[in-house]
Amino acid sequence: MSRILIIEDETSIADLERDYLELSGFTVEIENDGKKGLERALQKDIDLLILDLMLPGENGFEICRIVREKKNIPIIMVSARKDDIDKIRGLGLGADDYMTKPFSPSELVARVKAHLARYERLLNINMQANDIIEIRGLKIDRTARRVWIDGVEKAFTTKEFDLLSYLAQNPDHVFTKDELFREIWDMDSIGEIATVTVHIKKIREKIEKNSAKPEYIETIWGVGYRFKR
Ligand code: CA
Repeated sequence: MSRILIIEDETSIADLERDYLELSGFTVEIENDGKKGLERALQKDIDLLILDLMLPGENGFEICRIVREKKNIPIIMVSARKDDIDKIRGLGLGADDYMTKPFSPSELVARVKAHLARYERLLNINMQANDIIEIRGLKIDRTARRVWIDGVEKAFTTKEFDLLSYLAQNPDHVFTKDELFREIWDMDSIGEIATVTVHIKKIREKIEKNSAKPEYIETIWGVGYRFKR
């Protein structure tokens, strides 16, 4: 469950916020001092920050600025003064939300839930952003540089991976050995193209059920190779 830090010097308000959040199943900590609160907010296990503006030790503006610089967590700023809220917005400190005291605790809980859900969604999108090519049982994760065939991971050398990945990125394109050599080995050299043949053979041994009848990398006689879509 998400861990929420409340930095608030008014004990009665902090306690009220905590009680409501705990009722909703959150784990809640309170810091009454700005300096201590900032230190705590920067720890790894805090998932959301509820931050009062006027605090002893360090003010909420500065805390918000520093936390935003170092961590990607939702920050909800609260203040007793509407003017302050306008000021916070104007400063563009990177807070996710603003609330004017007094506010209803259930409104706070609703906003906390909404912001946590939004961050989780963003995190998931980022995690899915690996560059993955999937063609019939072959899966190539270009971000993690890993290859699976029918769900079983296969070990590839750097050049084998680069070559397979390049071919799979350009399906139905016929490449000559020369072109592949220049692309993958980054050398303008002739006479080394046998290297390409050797690597294609090794890749086929790993991904093809039958190297003599390749399903993925096809030999185009007299020309080169083509990755079948
Ligand atoms: Ca205060």
